[in-house]
Amino acid sequence: MGISDPVKFYHHHHHDHQKRSKSPPISAVLTREFLVTMKFKDILENDSSKDCVVCLDEFNEEDEIRCLTNCKHMFHQKCLDRWMDQIQETCPLFRAPILPLVCQDEYKKRFRVFMGLNNFYGENFVIMSL
Ligand SMILES: [Zn+2]
Ligand SMILES: [Zn+2]
Repeated sequence: MGISDPVKFYHHHHHDHQKRSKSPPISAVLTREFLVTMKFKDILENDSSKDCVVCLDEFNEEDEIRCLTNCKHMFHQKCLDRWMDQIQETCPLFRAPILPLVCQDEYKKRFRVFMGLNNFYGENFVIMSL
């Protein structure tokens, strides 16, 4: 599927910023890999939501939008990413999991791989309940 390596991304990010508090939680990094992002104008079924409940702004044609497959809610990419960085794993509106249900096995597999590497480096990260 051409998904980039989240572990590599994470460590790259971590070293770039030097401050651990700036690093997104691993759950957010992994979940982002499974989310679909589209421009608002390219979303065909957009009759349900016209604005983002996180920032309360209307969607504009060129905005990057994340569509959650479980509950069909839509949010700005930046807004949902910020939400996930606060270690939230459910939709801001409806409490459905952000991670697509069909991707959960793959997510857990990657999470275990990451935690294996993590132990190797002896660092501590927040562990989400899976
Ligand atoms: Zn927003
Ligand atoms: Zn939702």
